[in-house]
Amino acid sequence: MNIALIAHDMKKEMMINFVIAYENILSKHNLCATGTTGKKIMEATNLKVHRYQSGPQGGDQQIGAEIANNRMDIVIFFRDPLTAQPHEPDIQALIRLCDVHMIPMATNIASAEILIKALERGDLGWRNLVKK
Ligand code: PGA
Repeated sequence: MNIALIAHDMKKEMMINFVIAYENILSKHNLCATGTTGKKIMEATNLKVHRYQSGPQGGDQQIGAEIANNRMDIVIFFRDPLTAQPHEPDIQALIRLCDVHMIPMATNIASAEILIKALERGDLGWRNLVKK
């Protein structure tokens, strides 16, 4: 599965804890991330992460393009709902594209844990059926 990982600044520590806790599962998949999130994940774990631009520089849009091209299966996006983001339109566009293309997306750690456990159980196998 192709998995995108994104965390806003206030949520980056939470993302690091998340990827450390689930490194085992995540290591079996293709990971990508926005720039800073990806850098921090690779510094904290042995995971290999393809890094796109930083979010405010267009990283969310790059991940959105992968979704539109049917090349993304899961998005884990720890967004910060309490801080104004300069790239809010890009964030909304990414969430919208997940809904358009029915991509499983978690926007906080509670739902991300459910998603990652479902992934481990094989519940997301249907994604392989809709992939080109
Ligand atoms: P970053 O981007 O991983 O480069 O910080 C995330 C974001 O702010 O959308």
